[in-house]
Amino acid sequence: MEDKNKEKINVVELFGSNVFNDKIMQERLPKKVYKELHKTIDEGKELDPITAEVVAGAMKDWAVEKGATHYTHWFQPLTGFTAEKHDAFITAPHADGTVSMDFSGKELIKGEPDASSFPSGGLRATFEARGYTAWDCTSPAFVREDSAGAILCIPTAFCSYTGEALDQKTPLLRSMQALQTQTLRLIRLFGNTTSRKVTPSVGVEQEYFIVDRQKYLKRKDLIFTGRTLFGAMPPKGQELDDHYFGVIRQRIAGFMKEVNEELWKLGVSAKTQHNEVAPAQHELAPIYAECNVAADHNQIIMETLKQVAERHGLQCLLHEKPFAGVNGSGKHNNWSITTDDGINLLDPGKTPHENVQFLMILTCILRAVDRHADLLRESAADVGNDHRLGANEAPPAIISVFLGEQLEDVLEQLISTGSATHSLKGGKLHTGVKTLPDFAKDATDRNRTSPFAFTGNKFEFRMVGSRDSVAECNVVINTIVAEAFSDACDRLEKAEDFELAVHDLIKEYATEHQRIVFNGNGYSEEWVEEAKRRGLPNINSMVEAIPALVTDKAIQLFGKFGVFTEAELRSRAEIQYEGYSKALNIEARAMIDIASKHIIPAVMRFSRNLAGTVNEIKTAGADVTVPMNMLKDTTALLSQTKLALAKLQEAADQAAAMENGREQAEYYHEVVFKDMEELRVPVDKLEMIVDKEEWPMPSYGDLLFEV
Ligand code: ADP
Ligand code: MG
Repeated sequence: MEDKNKEKINVVELFGSNVFNDKIMQERLPKKVYKELHKTIDEGKELDPITAEVVAGAMKDWAVEKGATHYTHWFQPLTGFTAEKHDAFITAPHADGTVSMDFSGKELIKGEPDASSFPSGGLRATFEARGYTAWDCTSPAFVREDSAGAILCIPTAFCSYTGEALDQKTPLLRSMQALQTQTLRLIRLFGNTTSRKVTPSVGVEQEYFIVDRQKYLKRKDLIFTGRTLFGAMPPKGQELDDHYFGVIRQRIAGFMKEVNEELWKLGVSAKTQHNEVAPAQHELAPIYAECNVAADHNQIIMETLKQVAERHGLQCLLHEKPFAGVNGSGKHNNWSITTDDGINLLDPGKTPHENVQFLMILTCILRAVDRHADLLRESAADVGNDHRLGANEAPPAIISVFLGEQLEDVLEQLISTGSATHSLKGGKLHTGVKTLPDFAKDATDRNRTSPFAFTGNKFEFRMVGSRDSVAECNVVINTIVAEAFSDACDRLEKAEDFELAVHDLIKEYATEHQRIVFNGNGYSEEWVEEAKRRGLPNINSMVEAIPALVTDKAIQLFGKFGVFTEAELRSRAEIQYEGYSKALNIEARAMIDIASKHIIPAVMRFSRNLAGTVNEIKTAGADVTVPMNMLKDTTALLSQTKLALAKLQEAADQAAAMENGREQAEYYHEVVFKDMEELRVPVDKLEMIVDKEEWPMPSYGDLLFEV
């Protein structure tokens, strides 16, 4: 390892070397075919079979040169993971007993994995069991190397026989289309005649924990559920903040180096890495990319972190809350809207004309977030994220928008002078807006507590869980903003005096939706009260968040823009309830297993030894108060453990016997989850009493501070 780390690498050469990217396509495809393919990539034109055949051949040759023996349609079903089925390139043996390597256009464009084992939330019952994967040619194919060899991975969407989306990518692509259509409509009104394509740009910051793999393997809770179900706090926590941005330890540095190299090969522009707030916690961020590519890349990042960690004798924990009492992990979804000619529509801009457009876009986004706060909250709902949202570390569960110093400035000037000029960072910012309503403004400096923050030229949605796909939140953001743009266009297209109509609309939206703007401390109790006064939803758990998917408002929104049918929404809600129940069932069973087979026997052994000690000391005629009290404490906690265990067992049995769906999920959330917490209390106290040698698993201290 030492020598390998010292090897010099050529990043420019390495970058994208395992990606069938545009450069490779230009080199390897006949000009005509390359052009045809680009019509599909750029304009969404249907790919004809002859072109597909040639592309497939070139892709296969390239992959085989890279050592690939198999290909896979790589997709993201609603399991929370990526899925793949490998097929070798080999043909049936020829008459002379030899084989050749083959990959057809048909195989490139369409796959047919058995859909019956993937969650469909009832779609399968009403429709067909068949599922198809379809090539998303806007996200490039890549060759992934691992211990199983090299595999050509083709990013695909996954649909049912009748075209219902069974995955994360399909609705994401649909929502991107909706946003493009409505954004083009809007910017045309502002005189833009040149931009032809609009895409959301997304940059995802990924947090994760790294622990020693040998210690991890001794923690059944981590193995089965991704988080510790028991564990007393170590003497040292994160109170010193000495880890955040601290010097990266050698072992971790070696791991990060290899992660970066693997990602660069796959065309993922890994850029930033640093230690995070909690001990053993780190962050990685690539440079932003087109929304669907960024979502794919985030999956690749998570897979790579796990694989490379194992190679270094480490374990990557992607769970949102691996350790109670220690900061959890999330991801920040940075989002903006970019045109094909390089304009970032969320950039406040320089000319008055552009600034009015910017203020229109901004107030549309305020409107979108205010109207659909429940959907945004739902998009970040995840079993593990229940431990973070609203728990004094991640953003609160209440959605609000932070506008930041720059915009506060713009608005403040507008409010106080009522007219057009404002100076910002040395330059003059001419907004051209004469009237703007009073914005609620709180005096703050930088704000890290806001779930939806404007950060210069992008919005940062900070609620997503570390393990979750970013597809969901981007589907929501793209669609709700498309709706706001569409509504604005409906009004503006009819206007006789466009300038006046725009000003009126900006004012109207800003007034109507100013309640969503909050620049203060999102962690404070006062905010919870204030938000309630403002009528903002405060949705505290996943189970309570799911119903947002199937309100009339949601069905109408997603239906109008062709992102989800009602059946798809209902199926997604079902899948979420089921997913929650399954996860809680596994956690409860794991707790029961660990408590009864490992912890209780260890405590019994410890008590027996303690009793022996008491007797021996007594025989020797000395004072037995201390060991006697210890024994009493231990056995009292042991009884408490036994009782809590029996209660949890009963609740878990009852929950498991219920029919799948909302009620079952609610029961897990309200009863089983509480019983799990009750069992944890005496066990964590016992951990503090029982001899470390006797305790059946590594402690928080071992895991967090000995990497
Ligand atoms: P921080 O949020 O820690 O200040 P940065 O602002 O540098 O960090 O960026 C965080 C992420 O946001 C990175 O992935 C970066 O590429 C991405 N990002 C930067 N500008 C944009 C943009 N205009 N649109 C979308 N993502 C962006
Ligand atoms: Mg950030």
